[in-house]
Amino acid sequence: MSENKSAEMYQVWQQDKDHYIHPWTDFSTFKETGSIVVEDSDNVHITDGDGNRYLDGIGGLWCVNIGYAREEMAQAIAEQIMKVPYYSCFGHHTTVPAAKLAAKIAELAPGNLNHVFYGCGGSVANDTAVRIIHFYFNQLGKKSKKKIISRIDGYHGSTYMAMSITGVKFDHIGFDIDEQLVHHISCPNPYRRPESQSIEDFCDEKVQELENKILELGPDNVAAFFAEPIMGAGGVIVPPKGYHKRTLDVCRKYGVLYVSDEVVTAFGRLGHMFASKDEFDIVPDIITCAKGLTSGYLPLGATILSDDIYDVISKPQADGALFTHGFTYSGHPVSCAAGLKNIEIMERENLCGHVQEIGSYFEEQLKTLMDLPIVGDVRGKKFMVCVENVANKESKELIDPEAQVGNRIADHCQKRGLIVRPLAHMNILSPPLTLSKDNVDFLVSTLRESIVETMKDLKQDGYL
Ligand code: PLP
Repeated sequence: MSENKSAEMYQVWQQDKDHYIHPWTDFSTFKETGSIVVEDSDNVHITDGDGNRYLDGIGGLWCVNIGYAREEMAQAIAEQIMKVPYYSCFGHHTTVPAAKLAAKIAELAPGNLNHVFYGCGGSVANDTAVRIIHFYFNQLGKKSKKKIISRIDGYHGSTYMAMSITGVKFDHIGFDIDEQLVHHISCPNPYRRPESQSIEDFCDEKVQELENKILELGPDNVAAFFAEPIMGAGGVIVPPKGYHKRTLDVCRKYGVLYVSDEVVTAFGRLGHMFASKDEFDIVPDIITCAKGLTSGYLPLGATILSDDIYDVISKPQADGALFTHGFTYSGHPVSCAAGLKNIEIMERENLCGHVQEIGSYFEEQLKTLMDLPIVGDVRGKKFMVCVENVANKESKELIDPEAQVGNRIADHCQKRGLIVRPLAHMNILSPPLTLSKDNVDFLVSTLRESIVETMKDLKQDGYL
């Protein structure tokens, strides 16, 4: 924090540094610098404890879809707290928002995905999917069908199981994962395919790899395939055309369930309530979602199951046995009220239509950065985009990781009033869906200036 912070903000900064174990933190720098205290917010902007205002290019963490500080959201949350702040949904009780939101999600989800299990976020939604899938195959008497296949560079969360399904190798360093249950296949990243390979051949190879992995493990042992429609935290990777449809076909061929992790992509980020069907033309067996479901105003996640899965798991079991899965806060009424209000706002303001329009402009404008010598790739769709920086555009060779190019660019952006997310040599953008054309212009010009400044620094420090 700077010298001009108020005494109160200084105390907050110190308390945080001394006592709060932050998620996903580099303690070597955290212990020196502490955190930026986010103190205020409004639509697409946040303000820190020093009074600096930033355009939030990452929407909190891919989640503040309707924008910050919505009065009517605050009212809906307050009203629900005064009605029923909490009641358990175990067994045969429910609350009005939990029931209404489940019906609304079922209405919006594709195909026959009509049944909703609630948790508190994306990791738990994926853990729930695994437990239910195992239970489903047990109910069918297929007790060996347990293994999960996912992709290198896929991100699915950080509970034990969700992190095991995650395929970002960097995220596994120093921690343990379940390598018996989860198996990874390679990432369908077209930018990193061999130069001589056509995109069609690349897609064929990736689809074949899934089939080979199922055959290697044995179809009787493979329960499910997990995939994000666009891989987010692995570097915003859009797979080749037809990849999702064809991997779904492979899954169907071997009785493997397809789980579409829409924790980032659902609720407007790609201009649809759900991307699986509307963007990629697939109806998976299960969709997991969180983040944009409440736009981050309160924690909530959902695992959405097809009729077919529900029919099997809801059959009465042996005498005295229950469906023993659930959390104290499954279907929390206040979070569900926030979810209902969030969807109401999105529909009323046609935010998906706005993303279709402004998101296309955003994509187009970001592509102009390709003329910069270190910008190797600008990829993604609508409000889910990534800029990949390289040392050599031809060979795609990376800048020495020690240079921390993503961090350097993010720091320059921050000095200029813009938050972008650094991810190794990349920078990720996932702004609130309410972003205006003027906001896009500011974001892109600030990012350009920051990349140019970073190039100067890199040259000075001998990295370029
Ligand atoms: N799945 C995807 C695709 C994600 O991007 C994330 C978080 O970024 C998760 C799951 C985990 O969600 P959460 O952090 O809410 O547990």
